[in-house]
Amino acid sequence: HMPTTNEIRTSFLEYFRKNGHEVVASSPLVPRNDPTLLFTNAGMVQFKNVFTGQEKRDYVRAATAQKCVRAGGKHNDLENVGYTARHHTFFEMLGNFSFGDYFKERAIELAWNLITKEFGLARDKLWVTVFHTDDEAFGLWKKIAGLPESRIVRIPTSDNFWAMGDTGPCGPCSEIFFDHGPGIPGGPPGSPEADGDRYIEIWNLVFMQFEQVTKEERVSLPRPSIDTGMGLERLTAVLQGKHDNYDIDLIRSLIMASADATNVAPDGPQAVSHRVIADHLRSSSFLIADGVLPSNEGRGYVLRRIMRRAMRHAHKLGAVDPLMWRLVPALVQQMGQAYPELIRAQAIITETLKLEETRFRATLERGLKLLEEETGKLGSSQALAGDVAFRLYDTYGFPLDLTQDILRGQGRKVDNAGFERAMEEQRAAARRAWSGSGEAATEKLWFELKEKLGASEFLGYSTETAEGVVA
Ligand code: ATP
Ligand code: MG
Ligand code: MG
Ligand code: MG
Repeated sequence: HMPTTNEIRTSFLEYFRKNGHEVVASSPLVPRNDPTLLFTNAGMVQFKNVFTGQEKRDYVRAATAQKCVRAGGKHNDLENVGYTARHHTFFEMLGNFSFGDYFKERAIELAWNLITKEFGLARDKLWVTVFHTDDEAFGLWKKIAGLPESRIVRIPTSDNFWAMGDTGPCGPCSEIFFDHGPGIPGGPPGSPEADGDRYIEIWNLVFMQFEQVTKEERVSLPRPSIDTGMGLERLTAVLQGKHDNYDIDLIRSLIMASADATNVAPDGPQAVSHRVIADHLRSSSFLIADGVLPSNEGRGYVLRRIMRRAMRHAHKLGAVDPLMWRLVPALVQQMGQAYPELIRAQAIITETLKLEETRFRATLERGLKLLEEETGKLGSSQALAGDVAFRLYDTYGFPLDLTQDILRGQGRKVDNAGFERAMEEQRAAARRAWSGSGEAATEKLWFELKEKLGASEFLGYSTETAEGVVA
């Protein structure tokens, strides 16, 4: 019997429960008290204050399956969806944690035993990395896993050194990779071709052994900690004998729902659209279930961007009526038991998806037509003028990244600086209009305050993407 995604999640948690870990529920996607973080993007987020010692729990070992969204800020995999075999905007991160309890040796032992003994992964397909100076981890992988030195790769980059922030806990990490075999482009970790999809990272072990006190000063923690994260979908792919995350049972059933609803073959030339729809259905629905609603700023704007990208693909598949809301039952059926919030929020998820798609459809088609006309005037790889991208944004509700996503398929870019200029011109015009009105003084104050706060609300997001300025 081939284990399902749901069964694999349970096996992971049970294994760590048996090994003395408290099984803790996933925290919401909107971090409770961390305004600097757009969405929960790792299992450790809910334990941040436990790692720093600010908060005490009545357990020192924990295990979770954590809902994660990586669609903005420091970790943004939105542009990978539809292009790689291993990235989603929404995924589940399986993790085990030690708060000053066990450390490197036990963490490696627990991880290795789980994947090779409980789950039976082929040892000769596993590779690991260590931070280049971490001789201890190198030795432990040799001793515990019996791995040949050639498959324990020393990595000198920040990929293998984790830090909570500019200060706070930090330390080296080890990543575990599964080799999906020749024929798939990509090279082993550390090689120039490592970014391909042949050697896929499944598990990341962080050894929190230092504290960065100031920029210059780093001290050893008296009681080091462990934080790990393994992508449930990537693990499931390996266990179900699939290379691609989108071929596992759970995601495949969403792709089939999309194919059934549109009458477009799941694996034909439109396969990418089905993949994007399946992925964005999960992130949109889980975000709505956790209280995010589409809006024009902050988290709500990220949700809107994800939804509209999916809706463009629904349109591409020829769906005449709104599509996304019709796929919600398939998602609830797959994930409602593990995440009852999906069942509780099913009505609002459905209505939100339906309303947003109905409204966006009113402008989507005309916007696409304008885009087609404008690109028709361009040379083969010439960029789209910024003011056209701005008109699509302002009049037709096309987030900049949607326009970029559509053009990427044609090998074309947007003149981003021109887009920013058009945006700034409109803001200036709006300010002039405000200051001319009777209530100018107070209204202008509010306007400026909102602009200022709006721009600094989510640092990770607004400083890194062009759309952040919009938000
Ligand atoms: P990659 O290098 O493949 O992008 P990562 O190093 O960014 O992965 P981590 O931040 O170490 O990932 O997260 C821990 C684990 O979560 C990864 O080992 C992987 O299994 C899983 N994971 C990370 N990002 C994604 C994603 N976008 N979709 C699915 N699983 C993911
Ligand atoms: Mg990544
Ligand atoms: Mg990585
Ligand atoms: Mg990693």
